[in-house]
Amino acid sequence: GVVLGTPIREGHANYLLMYDMLTGIRVAVSRCNAKPNRLLDEADFKAAHKLAFDVTGNELLPKATYDFKFKDYAPWVFRQIREQFQVEAPEYLLSLTGKYILSELGSPGKSGSFFYYSQDYRFIIKTISKAEHKFFRRILRGYYEANPDTLISRIFGLHRVKLPGGQKIRFVVMGNLFPANKDIHETYDLKGSTVGRRVKPEDIKPHSTLKDLNFLEANRHLSIGSRKKEVFLDQLERDVLFLQISNVMDYSLLVGVHNLLIGNRENIRDNNLVAFEPSPETLLRRQPSTTRMSSGTRGGGRSRSTSRQRRAQGEGVEIEPSRAVLPDDMPPEKSNFYFYKEMGGMIATQESGEEGDEVYYLGIIDIFTEYNMTKKAEHFFKSLMGGSRTISAVNSVSYGKRFAPDSLFIDSHPKSLSRCKTLQCSL
Ligand code: ATP
Ligand code: CA
Ligand code: CA
Repeated sequence: GVVLGTPIREGHANYLLMYDMLTGIRVAVSRCNAKPNRLLDEADFKAAHKLAFDVTGNELLPKATYDFKFKDYAPWVFRQIREQFQVEAPEYLLSLTGKYILSELGSPGKSGSFFYYSQDYRFIIKTISKAEHKFFRRILRGYYEANPDTLISRIFGLHRVKLPGGQKIRFVVMGNLFPANKDIHETYDLKGSTVGRRVKPEDIKPHSTLKDLNFLEANRHLSIGSRKKEVFLDQLERDVLFLQISNVMDYSLLVGVHNLLIGNRENIRDNNLVAFEPSPETLLRRQPSTTRMSSGTRGGGRSRSTSRQRRAQGEGVEIEPSRAVLPDDMPPEKSNFYFYKEMGGMIATQESGEEGDEVYYLGIIDIFTEYNMTKKAEHFFKSLMGGSRTISAVNSVSYGKRFAPDSLFIDSHPKSLSRCKTLQCSL
């Protein structure tokens, strides 16, 4: 949803941290990209480059407003990952550091991670713990080898800031699974489990992320038609296999739903994003809908420019002709990849091939937790207490099995209910 958080400006408690993160990224990424590209070797996965910024600067580093240390992990690996997903360094740096403003998303949840959006909403910085950081470095090779159509949220950088007081903050830069220019009307975080997977009705607020039981109880289903469904399930299986063999736990399938009949009503320009002083180009993309989109304005093939025009008409937005031939408003890491190329996601599709009124945004998030000793101990105690079928701590192989992709697509086929693993668990 368009919960845009608080822009971090001077005086904000995390302004220094933001300054250090962005300065480190800017210098480290430009530095790596200034060199001619080359093949990766084994050492690139373990590499960690230190940068010590200070107010005077030196022959290697520009002077910074504040003193801090920065570590850039596996820069060559992330350079290649960005290239694989067609994120060009200049664009990447412009999104993140063109304006020194990030937007902080609420207060951290139980994991303690902070989330920051880039000013154009395209990238998210997530702070991670030392253990998560260590673990991610260990599985980086496998992550790098995942194929380009992976559903795992893209991670474009891994870094660490060390503040003058010695505090170390580790973080990743990842792609936002949700588009900047569409309101998300429903959000689910699904784990294929029913244990503790309900947000209580009294706790549900407008942009709440709901869980498995809310999904099932609302009789929510995602209709993408058998063709897209097959490709999706096939990819999900591959991704889950990687997560299983890497011993990853606790990840979720993040599901965002944009309802085309509702359109964009949140009027982002009236929200915090206006503080980001978006370029005229960005503002154009974020035109709010003023009229309902009639279903007659959609359907059929969607070439890039016509979908844009159609959307513009449907949303009652005036677009001068030259705008209509501009590249689509989706960044290349979306428009050129199967699961993200239709308005940044997948358009609902019926068996007949006819398009529905929703767009789905799907991806696997939170892949930094290892099935470690704590989990094993928890599993051991819970098994002693009985009911290992319903416990939440299982090993990564069971976790992957339970992840239950089929349960998402209960569609119109009653028989697929019997294949619904989430339901089976709860029976
Ligand atoms: P916990 O460990 O308590 O589950 P966490 O701090 O590890 O939480 P995540 O599960 O990674 O946090 O993410 C929390 C929420 O942030 C998600 O439910 C989702 O709404 C949002 N989010 C995370 N990653 C992305 C992403 N790549 N794109 C869009 N939204 C995201
Ligand atoms: Ca999570
Ligand atoms: Ca987590």
